[in-house]
Amino acid sequence: MSALLERIRSVVGPAGLITAAGEAAPYTTDWRKRYVGVPLAVVKPATTAEVAQVVRACAEARVAIVPQGGNTGLCGAATPDASGSQVVLNLSRMNRVREVDAHNNTITAEAGCVLASLQKAAEEAGRLFPLSLASEGSCEIGGNLSTNAGGTAVLRYGNARDLVLGLEVVLPSGDIWDGLRGLRKDNTGYDLKQLFVGAEGTLGVITAAVLKLFPLPRSRATAVVALQDPESALELLKRTLEEGGERLTGFELFSDFCLSLVLKHFKDVAAPFARRFPHYVLMELSDTRPGNELANLAESILGAALEEKRILDAAIAQSDTQARAFWKLREFISEAQAHEGPNIKHDVSIPISAIPEFIRTTDAELARAHPGVRMVTFGHVGDGNLHYNVSAPGGVAPDAFVKETAAINRIVHDSVSQFRGSISAEHGLGQLKREEIRRYKSSLELELMRKIKGVLDPNGIMNPGKVL
Ligand SMILES: Cc1cc2nc3c(=O)[nH]c(=O)nc-3n(C[C@H](O)[C@H](O)[C@H](O)COP(=O)(O)OP(=O)(O)OC[C@H]3O[C@@H](n4cnc5c(N)ncnc54)[C@H](O)[C@@H]3O)c2cc1C
Repeated sequence: MSALLERIRSVVGPAGLITAAGEAAPYTTDWRKRYVGVPLAVVKPATTAEVAQVVRACAEARVAIVPQGGNTGLCGAATPDASGSQVVLNLSRMNRVREVDAHNNTITAEAGCVLASLQKAAEEAGRLFPLSLASEGSCEIGGNLSTNAGGTAVLRYGNARDLVLGLEVVLPSGDIWDGLRGLRKDNTGYDLKQLFVGAEGTLGVITAAVLKLFPLPRSRATAVVALQDPESALELLKRTLEEGGERLTGFELFSDFCLSLVLKHFKDVAAPFARRFPHYVLMELSDTRPGNELANLAESILGAALEEKRILDAAIAQSDTQARAFWKLREFISEAQAHEGPNIKHDVSIPISAIPEFIRTTDAELARAHPGVRMVTFGHVGDGNLHYNVSAPGGVAPDAFVKETAAINRIVHDSVSQFRGSISAEHGLGQLKREEIRRYKSSLELELMRKIKGVLDPNGIMNPGKVL
């Protein structure tokens, strides 16, 4: 192994190679601290050519590679195993924006570019890069593409897969595929780039991407709406889409229990209404035209819904500060849960029309099998994605409760399957759901995935033990 490490050092220099356990620690555990690995080394190349040489060296030595970006993933996909034999290939030093083409509405960035920096570069050119996640200050575009990240604006702009036009990829052989095309039309055979999107680093290393940009919104209307139940949320979604069309940018649902957790664990947030309601929707409309048109539209949609008693109350933000305060109520939910103690998380996708029935039947099934459980239900309901998390009954220690994970997963995931949903909407499979997916994907689909993996990575060196 020392020959391999020497060869890698000669490629990346001392700044690009970490072998000391203490220094490697931040790269060897995942964000939720669920998995801890022991790597052979952490390698941080600075150019695509260096990535290619490192991958070729590992391929020749048959040493496994774990690609890594910002290490914010939620399913252990960027964590090496405990064997001490895998190389973590961290792309963070490859963080340049190579080009912004305002006429083509594209940005070309290296894989290690932090999402927030990419958004900023687009904004400086008067454009919007719409991918937006609570982890955007740390996650990197290579990781976003490899997980096909979603976030809060999927309803309008799609997920990472919809935002990519071209990729540069180092294949498991060490060859560089230059697919950095900025074309919206290109029907010259299979769409190879899409194979690497959502592949969680199992097919190759993304080193750069051409991404779509959009006009920068110049007005926004943000509102929190109080509702009786998820059915009313769907009714409001339908109405807002009919009247607001593509101006509807975000539509997030959360229960009162979620709000109570945020209010309990964060001091600088306030409840949106004087009294509490069973459910809330945070909705945002945006437009490239400045002015009050959007606020008037939001007022007319919500005013009519209120009059017809379809919603219980509504507050439209009167300033950017208030809009940001509304968003905090939604964005802080994940962290508030973490402060409350461990719970059993599910990132599921359901056809939008079936969400209320899914919640009703699955809540009932869980309450029957595990009396007293408290549901932390929230998510990007405008695109069918629910974070459907199960907390311990009052008085039961969260640490003891998580021992029920397998039984609770069975109930939730079987229910998702009955509604023809997905057990991973946006976080991926990684090592967390690698076994679980076998129950829900057909053997034909799994076999096709294995065949694709076999063609691109015949020696199985690219992120083994993840996804498949
Ligand atoms: C507070 C918080 C909120 C979040 N909110 C959301 C959300 O709303 N929506 C959402 O989708 N996710 C969310 N996430 C999850 C996470 O931020 C995303 O999955 C993100 O896309 C991961 O990017 P990363 O750079 O951190 O990737 P990593 O965690 O480093 O890696 C993720 C996967 O991608 C692979 N990978 C990384 N870089 C490359 C590369 N260059 N080439 C090939 N493979 C690579 C890794 O091997 C691994 O399989 C959240 C996470 C946190 C902590």
